Amino acid sequence: MTREKTITEFMIEEQRRYPEANGDFTALLNYVRLACKRISFIVGRGALAGAHGSAQAINVQGETQMKLDVMSNDIFLRTSEYGGHLAGMVSEELEEPYQIPAEYPRGKYLLSFDPLDGSSNIDINAPVGSIFSVLKSPNGTDAPTAADFLQPGAQQLCAGYAIYGATTMLVFTVGRGVHGFTLDRGFGEFILTHPNMRIPAEANEFAINASNERFWEPPVKRYVMECLAGHGGVRGKDFNMRWIASLVAEVHRILIRGGLFMYPRDTKDPAKPGRLRLLYEANPMAMLVEQAGGAASTGNARILDLQPTELHQRVPLILGCKAEVERIEQYHHEHDQGLDRIYSSPLFKERSLFLQN
Ligand code: MN
Ligand code: MN
Repeated sequence: MTREKTITEFMIEEQRRYPEANGDFTALLNYVRLACKRISFIVGRGALAGAHGSAQAINVQGETQMKLDVMSNDIFLRTSEYGGHLAGMVSEELEEPYQIPAEYPRGKYLLSFDPLDGSSNIDINAPVGSIFSVLKSPNGTDAPTAADFLQPGAQQLCAGYAIYGATTMLVFTVGRGVHGFTLDRGFGEFILTHPNMRIPAEANEFAINASNERFWEPPVKRYVMECLAGHGGVRGKDFNMRWIASLVAEVHRILIRGGLFMYPRDTKDPAKPGRLRLLYEANPMAMLVEQAGGAASTGNARILDLQPTELHQRVPLILGCKAEVERIEQYHHEHDQGLDRIYSSPLFKERSLFLQN
């Protein structure tokens, strides 16, 4: 019989590589894993758990909160605050950093998370997820300020997500590859099922919200039109398009079978230079994708090199197959140099995604 490896055993083996490790980090991940299991249970019960529908509230981002957003945020905070491993937390649902209540000890790590990603998918029974990122607190166990969380993604110690789909999986990296664990609902433990996940070098799928086409930057329009031109176009092959409207589900698909995801900068709302949040969406996903051999970029710069300026900062995000990300960066470069004039001509602007021949 092949011996199954649980997530706890996997973490213990990781810990044994570092003789100076005291188990704090392993314990912290245990609480994150427990939070994800609790959310998975509620997502799985759906309407039976009273988890469907709107919470009739607006969060700090100006987005309508679903009941499950609120419940998941609560679960993440209540589960993670207890263990004594965290100095503080940042959540998509809270304007300011969350301070560890006085009755619990503080630790030296910072946790940022999106408790429930893709909440528009809840009521239609499509995949949702949770995303998390772990940083070292620059001031040890002192109560952290917002500035303490503003570290470039390259400094993350750990990043991961849980996906609540047909099966629940936990996928994470501690900087030594990406590993996926499937929840065995029978005995309630995550089992290593996807060791060393790698993004295939060749892509033939891309994902973008095409309803925003009129707001896209010219390099993105160029890229998508070339994909749509298919076999007879400059790419010389056909592409498929996907859109699940949950970052977790999009990244999961890319880790399993490759491709490219784009939520580019657009001109829809000049105050928002992108849709996705740097600290708890773009950074953790960028670390995972890079660890799996892919790339993540704004179109002009590597995501993990960005110096965050605000907790809930939004950034353009293009990630997946390395060669495709580099191609879009190249298109941005050519555009900035004025080398792609055909794509900014009025003629090009009149051609739409669905009207080309
Ligand atoms: Mn999200
Ligand atoms: Mn969310």
